[in-house]
Amino acid sequence: MKNSRAKTHDPKNSRAKTHVQKLTILAVLILFIPSVMVAQVKQVAKWSEVKNLTENKYITAVVIEKLGELGITTKVVIKEIKTKRKESAFVLKNEGFYTIFVNSKIHNMREVIAHESLHIEQMEIGRLEQVADGFVWDGVFYPDQTPYNLRKWERDAHKRDFKLKNK
Ligand SMILES: [Zn+2]
Repeated sequence: MKNSRAKTHDPKNSRAKTHVQKLTILAVLILFIPSVMVAQVKQVAKWSEVKNLTENKYITAVVIEKLGELGITTKVVIKEIKTKRKESAFVLKNEGFYTIFVNSKIHNMREVIAHESLHIEQMEIGRLEQVADGFVWDGVFYPDQTPYNLRKWERDAHKRDFKLKNK
């Protein structure tokens, strides 16, 4: 269609038109490519930085994925639980990063990491705070001895971790 139209026009004019078209394409490319590159950089910057000190390297991907789904960007260190604790994982907030202690041999890793990621979210948004001798949840202090079933942040996390696990 372009060719048949060009034939009916003055060739000089049509050459000028082709030139304009080429310049337009070039301009679009120049404007478009950096925005694609910037979008990619932004996406990379959204990923959490994870240092996995356990043998199970799969955990790294799960932590990045679950924090990403919660829209959280932070730094995380993953360490093996050494003592024989009842729980298979817990998270501690440090200066500028979190440490997830986890039994790297467990089979429900996605669910456990989803759960711990929700605790990180609770701390990131300021609902949960770890203090010297307990926790502060929604401004209320709970001592360390607070039974698990009375810890409201655990209820909040359990309400949502099953959904997040399979997201
Ligand atoms: Zn928990």
